[in-house]
Amino acid sequence: MLVMKFGGSSVADGKQIEKVFEIVKGRLARKPVVVSSAHKGITNALIACGKAAAAGKPDASPVINRQKEVLVQCGCKDYMLNAHFREIEDLLRGIALVREYSARSNDYLSGFGERMSCRVIADFFTRHGIRAEAYDINELGFITDDKFGQARPIKGWEAGFKAEFDKRVPKNTVPIITGFIGKTPAGDWTTVGRNGSDFTATLVASAIDAEECEIWTDTDGVMTADPSVIPQARSIPFMSFAEASELAYYGGRVLHPSTLLPAVTHNIPVRVLNTNRPDHPGTVITQDGSADERPVTSIAYKESQCVVTIESERMLGQPGFLAKVFDVMGRHGVDIDMVTTSEISVSMTCAELDKLNAAVKELEQFGRVTITTDRTIVCIVGKNVKYQRGIGARIFAALRDAEVNVEMISQGANKINLSLLIADDDIKAAIPALHRALFES
Ligand code: ASP
Ligand code: MG
Repeated sequence: MLVMKFGGSSVADGKQIEKVFEIVKGRLARKPVVVSSAHKGITNALIACGKAAAAGKPDASPVINRQKEVLVQCGCKDYMLNAHFREIEDLLRGIALVREYSARSNDYLSGFGERMSCRVIADFFTRHGIRAEAYDINELGFITDDKFGQARPIKGWEAGFKAEFDKRVPKNTVPIITGFIGKTPAGDWTTVGRNGSDFTATLVASAIDAEECEIWTDTDGVMTADPSVIPQARSIPFMSFAEASELAYYGGRVLHPSTLLPAVTHNIPVRVLNTNRPDHPGTVITQDGSADERPVTSIAYKESQCVVTIESERMLGQPGFLAKVFDVMGRHGVDIDMVTTSEISVSMTCAELDKLNAAVKELEQFGRVTITTDRTIVCIVGKNVKYQRGIGARIFAALRDAEVNVEMISQGANKINLSLLIADDDIKAAIPALHRALFES
């Protein structure tokens, strides 16, 4: 079996869904299992409606109108999704009544996009000659915990999924399965997190032991840098799981950060492909990645990060000092990315300023605390970074020439990434300069 995941832009409208149909048709012999996102823009529209409802204005029309456009483009019956539309309207009225938009309501509401798009795709496929059936993934046993907004399937779910899948999906039918969503054992809708359909796809691939998982998107695979910023960015033919994980985590925009976890544990190759150029070979991500000697694979960055620095002479010769600091951060749910330490100071970066602010009072018991915001982590990834003499010199010379100041430096323990902290305002100068120095010379 082959899992094929299509992202929001791949199923954005009737034209795109036609392309998806042709792509799946060409792979029928490999028993495709489709996982789909919502049509582009629908998830954002749903969330905006939820917020408006909480402010007293329940109005589902932005979502319904947009979804109806796609129904028309795909030649579906116009009443096909009426039950979903009514449920969205009811939910928005409920949110407006209680004037409260909880994480739980947000998951319930934002998951409608996938539930509707999968029905549209299955209907289109069937009418054009590929027998297909839409499934809300929970119907196949995708049961999660209740961490709304970042739910994870409960331990041991795979066996149940495999059994339900075999029981419910007829052999001659292509299942079109919702990405992004799940349900708790108590029946509450959940989501695995924004842009999470990639992750759903590799989870499904691992549960049914697929031969491969294809992620269909709108770029020619994973690129050396974000092509919307660097027009010269090139497609990367092969990558290792480790390289792709680092990139996804540090802001590479193509894959959800958790996507590679199930693929690694089940050793399932992940192939990133372009729905708009289906003949392009894209990027294949495997355990070993490429055998070539390229020093660097790709550059990614994550903006709007904050940095907390604690300075204290008490750190000198104090075993356990960092453990106490990390304990405070952990209790406040602060997810730390980069860490650098010196004899008397420690700096850490994270994304969520509000959580960090809540931790400051406790951190002050350890020393002087300062917080800086509007920083960007730039991450240079490549499994050969550790073997390359002079790569650091090239990176820092390029940044010096672009007049970019580097505030923190860290090389990951697995030595496949080099992370640098710069000001958000410097991205425009830094990324092209690095791409030129590392890829274009
Ligand atoms: N539709 C969801 C989102 O926009 C999930 C996804 O597209 O992967 O976040
Ligand atoms: Mg995506």
